[in-house]
Formats: sequence, structure tokens, C-alpha cells
Amino acid sequence: MTAIWFDPVVEQLDEKARRRFWSKVSPPDANGCRFWTGSLSTGGYGQFWLGPRWPVGQFYPAHRMMLLIATEGAPAPDMLACHRCPARRRDCVWHVRWGTVRENRRDRLRDGTYGWKLTPEQVCEIVAHLCERKLSRKEIAARYGVHRSRIGHIAQGRAWGILFEDRPDA
Ligand SMILES: [Zn+2]
Repeated sequence: MTAIWFDPVVEQLDEKARRRFWSKVSPPDANGCRFWTGSLSTGGYGQFWLGPRWPVGQFYPAHRMMLLIATEGAPAPDMLACHRCPARRRDCVWHVRWGTVRENRRDRLRDGTYGWKLTPEQVCEIVAHLCERKLSRKEIAARYGVHRSRIGHIAQGRAWGILFEDRPDA
């Protein structure tokens, strides 16, 4: 897929950062899987630190970073790193492709991994509510039946990470 939109993160991916990224990816196993050997988020997903130096910078989902490195950008700003591993290993960072929110959801339904309260579409709706500023975070949390801290995470710009972590094992 041709990259037509350049994620600003790509500009931070210099030679040193790329070498560091690949040093955390295992060689392929019999299934062709390549696993993340670096640090994990609290949700159990691979994460990659990018920034000048601690604490300036942030963690990015390793699966998304893999696609950004592979394609030098995302096809569109709202594309997600969809994970479909034949071994269903969530630490596999090789079996990923760009997909829409809809495709991501369809994969999850098919794989029967639809266990979390918020769907990617709901997260997008919440982002829209936050932008409109008509409802308070408390009201949004009540409407979606989640804790207010979750709305806070989304408000802090961690929406994409949350979207990814909503896929427990796919
Ligand atoms: Zn795999």
C-alpha cells in the first residue's frame, strides 16, 4: 500500500532509532512470526520509546511503529495497525497491515476477541464529544459505561493506543 500521508512520527525515526527498533524484534519463527522483545505497555502490548531522551518523548505501539517503518508513513491519518497473526500471538509484530476502524472491528468480530467495553468506533465518538466540549468527561463516561479515567486517557491523546489495546489477542 502506498503511503499518501506521512505520520509525523516518521521524522523522528533516524538511523539510530531504526536500529534500536529492529534490535527488539526477533528473527522469524516457523510461522514467519517475528516477536517483540522490548518493553510492554500495561495492557501487555509491545511499546517503543521515541524521543530525544527520557523523559522527552513517548512510547508508541510497536505494531504501529513496525508498519510506519515498513511503509514510511500511514496511508491516511485514521488508519490503524490491524493485527492478524496465524499463531494469534499478540507479541508478533510482523503480521500487521494498515486497516480502517471498520476493518479492525470486523477482524475482531471474526476472531471472537470482542471482549472490551469500548469499540474503536465508540472511542472515535468519544474523541468527537471531547472536541465538541458539550458534555463533561463525567457525562461522557456515564454515557459509555466506563470509568472517567478511561475518558481521561483518550483526552490525553492516547486514543490510538487504546484502540490497539482493545484487541486482546488478535
Ligand atoms: Zn505472527
